[in-house]
Amino acid sequence: MASNTQFSDRPRILVVGGGYVGLYVAKNLQKKVKAQGGIVTVVDPLPYMTYQPFLPEVAAGTIEARHAVVSHRMHLKDTELIAGKVTGVDHAARTATVEPADGSPSFQLPYTDVVMAAGSITRTFPIPGLAESGIGLKTIEEALSLRNKILERIETASLMEDEAARKRALTFVVVGGGFAGIETLTEIEDMARAAVRENDRLKREDLRFVMIEAMGRVMPEVTQEQAEWVVSDMRSRGIEVLLNTSLASAENGELKLINMADKSPAGEFATDTLIWTAGVQANPMVRATDFPIDDRGRVRANAELRITGDDGPLEGAWAAGDVAAVPDLTGGGVGGFCVPNAQHAVRQAKLLAKNIYAARFGEGTVKEYRHENLGAVAGMGQYKGVANLKPFGKTIGLKGLPAWLAHRGYHGLAMPMYERKARVISGWLLNVAFGRDLTQLLHLKTPRAAFEAAATPGKKPAEKK
Ligand SMILES: Cc1cc2nc3c(=O)[nH]c(=O)nc-3n(C[C@H](O)[C@H](O)[C@H](O)COP(=O)(O)OP(=O)(O)OC[C@H]3O[C@@H](n4cnc5c(N)ncnc54)[C@H](O)[C@@H]3O)c2cc1C
Repeated sequence: MASNTQFSDRPRILVVGGGYVGLYVAKNLQKKVKAQGGIVTVVDPLPYMTYQPFLPEVAAGTIEARHAVVSHRMHLKDTELIAGKVTGVDHAARTATVEPADGSPSFQLPYTDVVMAAGSITRTFPIPGLAESGIGLKTIEEALSLRNKILERIETASLMEDEAARKRALTFVVVGGGFAGIETLTEIEDMARAAVRENDRLKREDLRFVMIEAMGRVMPEVTQEQAEWVVSDMRSRGIEVLLNTSLASAENGELKLINMADKSPAGEFATDTLIWTAGVQANPMVRATDFPIDDRGRVRANAELRITGDDGPLEGAWAAGDVAAVPDLTGGGVGGFCVPNAQHAVRQAKLLAKNIYAARFGEGTVKEYRHENLGAVAGMGQYKGVANLKPFGKTIGLKGLPAWLAHRGYHGLAMPMYERKARVISGWLLNVAFGRDLTQLLHLKTPRAAFEAAATPGKKPAEKK
């Protein structure tokens, strides 16, 4: 396979993935490495980093989709950017195989150091019909299409005469009662109720929202008492929360549920909107590398964020974020390792940038990663939320409006780059002034149809969604 002559021949720090870890590693290294005569290269099929904690709010229309992503080109001006996927890494030969996003032939990219930062993908199970009927919530495209679909289903259902079809269109289901699932269902419930208030042909009771959770509780990140409050708050809003329940089948949107205790049937109903948020797994692309992988499919790393095999750390190989098994030196985490969240990803990335610079250019010292959990904040629709904050070793539990304010405050500040913070926060303020934007965008998949029909005499525009 050929090399690509378009790219720099300077010593390269290759960052595989431009999400949380990739963005911060590149941002913190790009100028310093350039000054040393090297180059930082980020390879990602996407031209932006996605602020995933905002996906539920994008799906609910309280944040504009473009504001929840950070453009690589705008913010990584001294970084070499390559739109493509890394499909393999041969660390022994210090080369990665890159498959360009435009479909042109793959090529080899040499490097001196590599940072594995390809994150995670949605973890699913072999449930019949899930792949065809479901949608995840890991990408901005999923969040945006979910928003448009929910608004479209509500509008379309308001004209339906077939009772079964109408019920199905107005039933919204989330599988997975972790943070992402709870935030997603409560946010879209809020938006759907607002849309129905604007539509004379529908009533609040026409909508159905169902949370399916296999465990006996939701949100492991908050206390039992807070988790119970979340469930009772959701139920008081008319959301069905089915604990100890699992999805057995979803063929053609016909859901069959089972009770987790005795595997007995636990109900059947149909939906057009099935959202799957039941966990993540390390990006399986790491299996196409010669790096050591743990039993959960993560790249093995030590606390210095160096990729580490049985014989010790590998020279020039680093990893952080969801793709990596990084020891949690505070004694927290799961199984002794950091849990996959943005709190760790950002902090690991900042330390990794310093460590790599110290190791490669001899400035500073390589340090171990140690981060005390700061707690968790979740929004549950406008002015509602739950939070478990851990400042200075204390634990403060919040519910309702104070938690929602903590959620907005935390994420408003945590959103990378001042211009993105400003866009998100100004959007929130505009929502206070004008209310939530319920405009539904149509025909995103077939934007040329109207022009084609106009340019083809006698042709009617095709049906489109
Ligand atoms: C809905 C939702 C809500 C969340 N809320 C919170 C929260 O409130 N608090 C919190 O702490 N965490 C939250 N998280 C988790 C947090 O977003 C992740 O832990 C974080 O994004 C991990 O960062 P990362 O850099 O490891 O991976 P990512 O940010 O996922 O970045 C991975 C990047 O790698 C790229 N990539 C993938 N494959 C390849 C390849 N083959 N080659 C090159 N590039 C590749 C991807 O396109 C992506 O840009 C949430 C996650 C979700 C899905």
